[in-house]
Amino acid sequence: MQLQTILNKVRKFKGYVYENVTMSQDGRKLDVHIRPRKGASPRCSGCGRKGPVYDHLPKARRFEVVPLWQIAVFFVYVMRRVDCRHCKRIVVE
Ligand SMILES: [Zn+2]
Repeated sequence: MQLQTILNKVRKFKGYVYENVTMSQDGRKLDVHIRPRKGASPRCSGCGRKGPVYDHLPKARRFEVVPLWQIAVFFVYVMRRVDCRHCKRIVVE
């Protein structure tokens, strides 16, 4: 069983896909790379409404989540910016 399968069972994010998992050389860290599901619009972090993608932030962000078997786990994700028509500005999802 792949780690992605387990992640989908315990924590599924609508509109996102667990792409692949990499482990650091010392075996103490897992990076779970996440990408948006095809055609899934980002949500404005201001009002929560969906909007069109404006662009992507230049660097992936790492979010530390609950460790597995004492291995630190990070979700790695390149955040999108939303052209929010409701807030009338460009906002990170
Ligand atoms: Zn908004």
